[in-house]
Amino acid sequence: MARTVIVGGVAGGASAAARLRRRDEAAEIVVLERGEYVSFANCGLPYYVGGAIAQREALLVSTPEKLRAEVAIDVRTRHEVLRIDRAAKQVLVRDLLAGQDYPLSYDKLILSPGAQPLVPNVPGVDLPGVYSLRTIPDADAIKAMIDAGRVRRAVVVGGGFIGLEMAENLVARGVHVTLVEMLGQVMAPLDFEMAALVHRHLRDSGVLLALGSALKAIELAEDGGLVVHAGDGRQHQADMVVLAIGVQPESTLAAQAGLALGPRGHVIVNEHLQTSDPDVYALGDAIQVLNPVTGAPYAVPLAGPANRQARIAADHITGGDARYRGTWGTSIVKVFDLTVATVGSNARGLQGAGLPYLTTITHSQDHVAYYPGATQQSIKLLYRPDDGRLLGSQVVGYNAVDRTIDTLATALQAGMTVYDLEHLELAYAPPYGAAKDPVNIAGYVAANRLRGDSHMVEWSELAALREAGLGVVDVREEVEFALGHMEGALHIPLGQLRTRYAELDPARQWAVYCKVGRRAYLAERILRQHGYDVVNVSGGYTTYEVAMEKQSSDLDGGRSGVAGASAAPSAEAAPEPEVQAAVTLDACGLQCPGPIMAVYKAMEGLQPGQMLRATATDPGFARDVAAWAERTGNTLVDLQRYDHRIEAFLRKGLVVPGAPRPAAHPSEPTAKTMVVFSADLDRALASFVIANGALAMGQKVTMFFTFWGLNILRRQQAGQVSKTLVERMFGWLMPKGPGALTLSRLNMGGLGTLMMKQVMHSKRIDSLPALMQSAMDNGARLIACQMTMEMMGIKPEELIDGVEIGGVATYINETDRANATLLI
Ligand code: FAD
Repeated sequence: MARTVIVGGVAGGASAAARLRRRDEAAEIVVLERGEYVSFANCGLPYYVGGAIAQREALLVSTPEKLRAEVAIDVRTRHEVLRIDRAAKQVLVRDLLAGQDYPLSYDKLILSPGAQPLVPNVPGVDLPGVYSLRTIPDADAIKAMIDAGRVRRAVVVGGGFIGLEMAENLVARGVHVTLVEMLGQVMAPLDFEMAALVHRHLRDSGVLLALGSALKAIELAEDGGLVVHAGDGRQHQADMVVLAIGVQPESTLAAQAGLALGPRGHVIVNEHLQTSDPDVYALGDAIQVLNPVTGAPYAVPLAGPANRQARIAADHITGGDARYRGTWGTSIVKVFDLTVATVGSNARGLQGAGLPYLTTITHSQDHVAYYPGATQQSIKLLYRPDDGRLLGSQVVGYNAVDRTIDTLATALQAGMTVYDLEHLELAYAPPYGAAKDPVNIAGYVAANRLRGDSHMVEWSELAALREAGLGVVDVREEVEFALGHMEGALHIPLGQLRTRYAELDPARQWAVYCKVGRRAYLAERILRQHGYDVVNVSGGYTTYEVAMEKQSSDLDGGRSGVAGASAAPSAEAAPEPEVQAAVTLDACGLQCPGPIMAVYKAMEGLQPGQMLRATATDPGFARDVAAWAERTGNTLVDLQRYDHRIEAFLRKGLVVPGAPRPAAHPSEPTAKTMVVFSADLDRALASFVIANGALAMGQKVTMFFTFWGLNILRRQQAGQVSKTLVERMFGWLMPKGPGALTLSRLNMGGLGTLMMKQVMHSKRIDSLPALMQSAMDNGARLIACQMTMEMMGIKPEELIDGVEIGGVATYINETDRANATLLI
């Protein structure tokens, strides 16, 4: 009777044993497990600590007794394999309870020893209160300390799956958590802008996030707690530290037996899971596998692959020809109310493999907006630029992320393209999805890009392109723009674009954006048909805003998160409001700017001092309502999150709410705007003296040049410019640039102006051109009035470099943010 010995009795080992028995009733199967338990739910351990899994026994998927009785497997817990003698085909086993060693021969050997938590080589990692999480006893120890009320503050080191799950579950136990991560982002399989969505949610959920901060040391504090020293020089107080910086393969046995190992110590196997010795199989976290996207070997320590590999090894041992196809890295993790999932390669992986790729980001509703509870689901697709074949995808959202990632994982494994995603027929009824499923929409946008219907630019490319002259147009509604926009963006709502597109300089390239990209796509199509060179910002302002914001928590300014945001875990019922609301507003299912517009209308009907209770499911509502209240003189009294909803309590201020207006918030930088109407030298000098003064005081300055004032911005020599006769005559009659300006009084046929220039020179007062240059160097925004330019026939080529051309809306937007406006 052939004997198969299996080292490791949890995910891979127990599965292999069960499959062997199903295939061969006569086989002798011995499972050797170092720990106390076999076939336990290591994936459930964080939830046992947090209390979501209440019964410890629920973690025991099977027991040695059950395995013996039901599948006739000889399970030996607390038995450790010390050595493999391949020549003799036997292993040396230590019975850890009896303290005795014995040899055990095998016909086939399966290694499924897993991976152990990495423990960094820094002082203090062995102090009491410092834990890793791999086994049930690890979870018991962590839970016991919390149950005993000894953990008020914890530091979780590492922002991977286990670190994030532990952060959430510690918060669920009322622990204040600081997450320390060496990289600039959590969840390495995500690209940065998708991880930024997770960062925001972590901060909003009450976790203090310290990114780009490696663990340096842990030491005992004077109060008996721990002090965590991070690489950025900060110190974090803690009662408990959980180390979750990754895992390393348990391949010592394989190495000692001379089996071939990869560069990071993983066992090398073939498609049947055989090691370099055909009688020895290996699987699970200990092996390296093929990345089907890049074709390179890598390691993916996940339970799904371990289970599939176990089945294939068992089939091969029992005479089958099953082959492992590689690991696609399909994974999912819950981070408070958010679900984060990935499959395939991310941008970093593709760059590393030298594979060309394109990306698109879409933000869709998980189900139709009119059915309650719809929430945002963000999808990033990575695909080949030539044929659109999928290379990877990332999904971050609140609902149905599992459905989306599994669809995309299936598509990826089937070799589908983004064009195929357009055609996928997916289930739909209002509570579950949309007639255009988020996956279809991701496919449409990517396919539009490949077909050339839409030209796209990524948020990370914008800065360099703008430096090179790209203009930016925001086509969202007034209220959305007022709640935040890209610095320096022109604002033309989509509905006005057909009548106002001429405000855009046709000689420049323009990027259009809206909240998620849909309205910007329409704007792009309009502008393109008017001959403009236009690109759409992938993922819209939603992606740009989250990627550009400060990612780490404000560690010096108390606990982070949206003002008043509850760090408490989701509860079934809404917390009782402290104050009775006069009106309640249900804005669930509405998308930005819907909830804010609804709040605005509801507040109009209230008396000063009365309270509104507004509930919304749009995740951006928490931020938007806080900003809206601040700008409109109302007070956000409280903000709660429960059951995927955000509830805001707003007290109406004495100011009647209207369209958002500038906040006189002390923390906002002050700004000055000027309308420069005159082309008199003295007035021009005054305006630039004031501008330079304001800039020197750290203030923002925007100068809007209109009518005669436009002449200040003219070049002396503009080269060949095509003009009508009237335009040319206007041009001759008006001064060309600062050098041609004259004084408003005492000009005396030019003598007064000459004298003034000499006096300025002798007294070392900067000339007008020097003052203008200095203002521009220091960041003043000089805007030439588009309408006046057209009227007077002044062409863009006639203006000095660095001047923007804009409409009144651009200027009004700046005055909204300024605390003083001058008319010169
Ligand atoms: P394991 O399941 O770790 O089993 C290896 C066993 O081998 C261990 O019990 C070990 O004691 C034993 N062993 C090692 N050396 C010897 C020896 N010399 N002699 C005898 N016995 C030995 N994956 C997911 O896909 N989704 C999740 O949500 C998820 N969550 C996780 C949460 C936590 C806290 C942890 C720790 C892991 C999680 N994983 C998750 C990863 C998943 O558990 C592993 O990928 C999977 O268990 C790997 O299976 P394996 O058989 O290779 O190793």
